[in-house]
Amino acid sequence: MTHVLLLGGTSDASLLARRLHQDAVPAVFSYAGATRSPAAQPLPTRSGGFGGVPGLVQFIRTHGISHVVDATHPFAAQMSRNACAACAQTGIPLLALERPAWQPEAGDRWVTVANMDAAARALPTAPARVFLAVGRKQLAAFAPLVQHRYLLRVVDVPEPGSLPVQGATVLVARGPFGAEGERALLTEHHIEWLVTKNAGGEATRGKLEAARALGLPVIMVQRPDVPARRSTGSVDSVMHWLAHEGVAGAMLSMP
Ligand code: NAP
Repeated sequence: MTHVLLLGGTSDASLLARRLHQDAVPAVFSYAGATRSPAAQPLPTRSGGFGGVPGLVQFIRTHGISHVVDATHPFAAQMSRNACAACAQTGIPLLALERPAWQPEAGDRWVTVANMDAAARALPTAPARVFLAVGRKQLAAFAPLVQHRYLLRVVDVPEPGSLPVQGATVLVARGPFGAEGERALLTEHHIEWLVTKNAGGEATRGKLEAARALGLPVIMVQRPDVPARRSTGSVDSVMHWLAHEGVAGAMLSMP
């Protein structure tokens, strides 16, 4: 009996869900429950934390999970650590679906930093117009820097007073975001600095191309550490792995 647990929350996870559905692989899709209206999935879907490693171990056992695919965002490190620990405890095979990190190209003006606090310290002390493309969870580092004018982009309309940075311009939008639109956005808001996580992938790369074209400095936050684990960058490779693992329905032939 096989049953795949797909840890989601990324566009890659949604692509994989479609393939698992197409190939009739028994699977359950898991959301953290972080956004109000997550994309519908063609798989049975659950939502909300498992309750740490013990909760995930229990979920794996009670739902007969035979394989776990961690397709969470590269910055969702806690979930990835928990998945490693729970799979080690239960002896269940784990594969991470993760996009390669972005690399600087000619013309880029990147300041690479280790975390969000370092990103805040890397901003100039003089007032500047800053696009914080970092999601809403990690804005607190910028709260003390009241001299800047911030542009934020979030998935859900924020509750009044819920954002830790004051006086920011808030856009509510869901990617993907192309380079042309990003360039227009940066120009319209007279952005001088861009702060972003090194998420990798195509859906949100456009802002980097736009910053390069406009000659803007980019503060690039590196990915948090996760334990060493088997990983791949493509949905095809996940399906290949599942087929080799003997999971019914996963096709060995590449499309
Ligand atoms: P995180 O810090 O690694 O996880 C915090 C807790 O949320 C986990 O310990 C787990 O709770 C729960 N959780 C996270 N992902 C889950 C999933 N797929 N299914 C069930 N529970 C999950 O994660 P995060 O940075 O808050 O991200 C939350 C979700 O948003 C992730 O699924 C991620 O893929 C997505 N996302 C994150 C970012 C980002 O920049 N961080 C960007 C885009 C999308 P328990 O310990 O109780 O199990």
